Amino acid sequence: MPSLSPSLDELVDALKRLPGLGPRSASRIAEHLLSEDRTRAVKLLASLERAVKTVKHCELCNTLTDEAVCPICADQTRDRTKICVVESPADQRVIEETMAYRGLYYVLMGLVSPVKGIGAEELHLTKLLERVKNDAAVREVLIATPFTPEGDATAHFIAKAMASVAPAVRVTRLARGIPAGVELEYTDANTIAGAIFGRK
Ligand SMILES: [Zn+2]
Repeated sequence: MPSLSPSLDELVDALKRLPGLGPRSASRIAEHLLSEDRTRAVKLLASLERAVKTVKHCELCNTLTDEAVCPICADQTRDRTKICVVESPADQRVIEETMAYRGLYYVLMGLVSPVKGIGAEELHLTKLLERVKNDAAVREVLIATPFTPEGDATAHFIAKAMASVAPAVRVTRLARGIPAGVELEYTDANTIAGAIFGRK
């Protein structure tokens, strides 16, 4: 079949590069956005544009936020002796929702992955290591990367790096209440809260 709409093809092509979307769901979304009611498409365009202009990485914890320093890092009532290391802002949100953790965070925005060619150098770890080294308040780094080969490799790397820059800081891993291979994002709040308290 000849291309009926190169513009539609281009949109589908852009959508299918997004995580979790294959060619079929990309086509469905594109067709939906371009069907009768296009106000949704216009709203999406506006929020995407605003987010691209406004959202940045927190200077301290690297999470996505509208401010230079995010509201969690700025909150002086948080426990400043603990830093929880997570893969993504989505995982950070999951831990916040358990309300079992009152410390600070560090958001990696990825994991070490030999398959995808992402080494430890590609993750923004220098900022975390510098902070732990220079901030005497930090007593514990709680690693909450997923129990997958990539999550394990990342946790191992952080623990090793931490031992050399700040040997006095306790490094723990979110305990194995969470099933292996399961993404934190899809784990229920009680299980995560249990894992935070049961950490080794
Ligand atoms: Zn922050």
